[in-house]
Amino acid sequence: MTNSRLGVVGAVGVVLAVCVMVLVPGLGARQAAVQIDGDDIGGVVTGPNGPEAGVWVIAETTDLPTRFNRTVVTDDQGRYVVPDLPAAQKAALHLAVRKPLVTTNVAIRNWRAFQKLGVSSINCPGMFYQSISVDLPPAIGGYQNASTPDEPVVLYMSLTARILEKAGSGLPPREQWKESRAELEKITFETFEGNIREQLDRVLGPGGFDAQRDVAGIIINRWGHAYASGSNELYDPDYSHRMDAPWVVGRQQFGRITISNSDAAGVSLTNAAWQQSHRAVNELITNVVRPVFDFQWSERDTAGEPGDYPNNF
Ligand SMILES: Cc1cc2nc3c(=O)[nH]c(=O)nc-3n(C[C@H](O)[C@H](O)[C@H](O)COP(=O)(O)OP(=O)(O)OC[C@H]3O[C@@H](n4cnc5c(N)ncnc54)[C@H](O)[C@@H]3O)c2cc1C
Repeated sequence: MTNSRLGVVGAVGVVLAVCVMVLVPGLGARQAAVQIDGDDIGGVVTGPNGPEAGVWVIAETTDLPTRFNRTVVTDDQGRYVVPDLPAAQKAALHLAVRKPLVTTNVAIRNWRAFQKLGVSSINCPGMFYQSISVDLPPAIGGYQNASTPDEPVVLYMSLTARILEKAGSGLPPREQWKESRAELEKITFETFEGNIREQLDRVLGPGGFDAQRDVAGIIINRWGHAYASGSNELYDPDYSHRMDAPWVVGRQQFGRITISNSDAAGVSLTNAAWQQSHRAVNELITNVVRPVFDFQWSERDTAGEPGDYPNNF
């Protein structure tokens, strides 16, 4: 941590004027129980009356894009350790780079051009959008989809992989997505709109389409961090069913922290996110909360006779 600070806060949130002794390996032999390595921060909080128990020690850094802090509480001898994630887990989590995504929907006043050209989906290699499709027509309850070419429909357009994934850049996949994320932020709506209108005129013009007249509305959704990426066997080892897969190493419980979400499965699906949340919550319950019931629910009424349930409830 280069841009970091250490704060000591009393249990009621008041900053205490106490002395913080930071132990480095080889020092503080009397407090030998505080085991720390080069990445950890550890020591003893002492006040005028000696070691202070129950003091919050807050280590904070602004080295990361998001301000990060970790809080620990001193034990009854005033000792604390702010541990760091194991290096292997940290390295595994660094591989969980998400792919970006852009979805573009264009409402058009009629789909006569599609009918005239006899198509519902068009691939456009080399263009700003690599495909144009008439979107799936929903019909729900009283809401009915268009049934004649004179009625409005919504188009779905897929951005070229040259921009969305930096395809052809020669970069490794995770670097491609980082570059693409940065580029997508800079593309203005005007650029998207200009390309959409020009491309629709070029592709559908022979069918009579006129963007000036026929485009009713445009929605661009940009997700900088959309899809959990897992691994790509062209570049990564084949991790199928392997416990050293980065998402398995990365999702290991760390103290009272359990790790959820689709990145922890290496799969970009909602059900994967749910399953990982289920596992993470179970880890918390099993390993951290540990609900130990040392009484029978009917104990009071049965004078402690186990299994002898009352009939007066
Ligand atoms: C357009 C689109 C269509 C999809 N369609 C499908 C589909 O049909 N079926 C399917 O199964 N899956 C689909 N997915 C994928 C699915 O939505 C995701 O895999 C799933 O939502 C991932 O859940 P998650 O909890 O891992 O992450 P997310 O849903 O991405 O949640 C992460 C959350 O963390 C928050 N966050 C990020 N950084 C910070 C921070 N520093 N501090 C605090 N909060 C932070 C984010 O704001 C976000 O709310 C689709 C995704 C997209 C984008």
